[in-house]
Amino acid sequence: MPDAINRLATDTDNGLVLIISGPSGVGKTTITRGVERGVPGAVFSVSCTTRAKTAVDTEGVDYFFVSDEEFERMRAANEFLETAGVYGKKYGTPKAPVLEQLRRGRLVILEIDVEGAKQVKRHLPDALAIFILPPTEEVLLQRLRDRKREDESLIVKRFEAAKSEIASARTSGVYNVFLVNQDLQDSIQRAIDLVDAERDRRAGRA
Ligand code: 5GP
Repeated sequence: MPDAINRLATDTDNGLVLIISGPSGVGKTTITRGVERGVPGAVFSVSCTTRAKTAVDTEGVDYFFVSDEEFERMRAANEFLETAGVYGKKYGTPKAPVLEQLRRGRLVILEIDVEGAKQVKRHLPDALAIFILPPTEEVLLQRLRDRKREDESLIVKRFEAAKSEIASARTSGVYNVFLVNQDLQDSIQRAIDLVDAERDRRAGRA
């Protein structure tokens, strides 16, 4: 067992990738962080992005903020599990930490878009993919307005983008579950239950 030497006391064979996607304003970041807190040993995969850091972002926690040159260097070196362009900026999931945490039996959570989810499923078909939906389109539009982050023309753009992202998620064939976010706590619990059920199923316990 050459690998035994590298194993931690907390390592298991329970490794699972959880993809969480959804349009902006749907509550997916809150749900993602809630699942991370609620599942023992879960880790959030910190993406690289070329977008500018905002006041609410923490380097190394929300993202690694990198230059375009650095992003392209990483891409050329095959260091990404997947990449995507969102609103003209580049986003990518560093591959090595995901594979390392999977090997340790962790739940690895990727908060990525539909294009990225398709690529991850090609490499890791066993990934569990959840798409978060708003209760209605009207609720989503209201939530985007309530965030008071952007002016109305940008809000309308995000709303249109959200509708087409939902449509492409539905036709992608990538998502195991579409979860309607009526209530945040309830959605977090449902996502955790899905993870537990999937791990039980794989372990032959269900
Ligand atoms: P934001 O810039 O608002 O944090 O994220 C914009 C969009 O990019 C969101 O839909 C988010 O899920 C997606 N995203 C964030 N990181 C990644 C990544 O590494 N890969 C992909 N494909 N999408 C990402």
